Amino acid sequence: RFITFEGGEGVGKSTQVKRLLQHLQQNGIDAVRTREPGGTAKAEAIRSFILQGRSESWGAGAEAVLFASARLDHVRQLIAPNLAAGTWVLCDRFHDSTRAYQGLTGGVDERLIGELETLALDGHVPDLTIVLDMDPEIAFRRVEQRQLADGLKVTGDRFEKEELDWHRTLRDGFLAIANANPERCVVLDADRDEDELERVIWATVSARFPE
Ligand code: C5P
Repeated sequence: RFITFEGGEGVGKSTQVKRLLQHLQQNGIDAVRTREPGGTAKAEAIRSFILQGRSESWGAGAEAVLFASARLDHVRQLIAPNLAAGTWVLCDRFHDSTRAYQGLTGGVDERLIGELETLALDGHVPDLTIVLDMDPEIAFRRVEQRQLADGLKVTGDRFEKEELDWHRTLRDGFLAIANANPERCVVLDADRDEDELERVIWATVSARFPE
């Protein structure tokens, strides 16, 4: 089984991917956790290259091509072999993030996004995508609190308050993707206690894959 987690920034994806992995392993299911952009050494190198050099602004089209290259490596080296071995793969962000970031908010046209997707997925469409949905203002406060707790400076990649509209567009983008793919996507309200969200996710996964 191939499960992806999607959503805007600060919605708690990474925490929930870790918790779902624990649930699966406790139930005797072989599973691995990975993330995008990244997941393999080469793909992580592309991630750092793009995210650190963002100020130089590559442009969303070139970014989309680079991310596709990272994804192809990730799919071929990690995702496909694990799925072939019967190991569940949990991925923190995947192709819907490309549609939301480079496509809907970045302005890359649907044709290029679609072609890159076909190339990079290599047929490996997720069986289930959990979209964690939250008002970006609340997500922002959560990121702020976490950074304060960690003693970090409160900044954030794209989390300046004036960019809230951008985050709202991103959120709408993920919801539109989920609406267009109702068989694959489940939207869950992420504005709740982490333990409660964990239970809802486990219930969703158990109901979807009862075996
Ligand atoms: O989910 P995570 O916080 O690891 O994502 C890191 C950053 O990568 C995000 O802040 C987002 O801006 C960026 N990203 C992107 N395009 C993607 C996936 C992630 O710009 N397709």
